Amino acid sequence: MEDPVEIQQRVEKLVKRVRRRDDYGKLLATSQAIRPVGEVDDPDAWRAEIKRQARSDRIKVRTGVSGGMLWAVTAGPLTEAQQEEGIRHFHLFNRLESDAKARGHAFKVALRDGEEAVFRCERCGAVGYVDAAAGPFVGGQLFESDCPGE
Ligand SMILES: [Zn+2]
Repeated sequence: MEDPVEIQQRVEKLVKRVRRRDDYGKLLATSQAIRPVGEVDDPDAWRAEIKRQARSDRIKVRTGVSGGMLWAVTAGPLTEAQQEEGIRHFHLFNRLESDAKARGHAFKVALRDGEEAVFRCERCGAVGYVDAAAGPFVGGQLFESDCPGE
């Protein structure tokens, strides 16, 4: 069983990092960034900045405005490494979901950033954490104790 204090610290760090991350970071992590036009001072500058950063990283990106939303998506096929990561995460998350459900929890992905994710039980609020790059490192009440119900 992993140290609950360490789990808590890892969850808090991940939450802070995701909150702080800018739209380009979101684009890199999830292949898309979307924002209501009203939240952005200068939509053209927003698009130009995303494109500028993508160019310097040699990433193809498309941006646009539709239905009051500003958006940017990565264009072109994923790299082999990105595909492998996706498959690896799919299998790992699948296994974690089974583990949590076996304990009676209602499994939900609460937050995801690259190799790390936070899960939550919709019934009891138990939290689980995984760092896929570290072993994987898995911990939290979601995987260690049974769901007490509502
Ligand atoms: Zn639960």
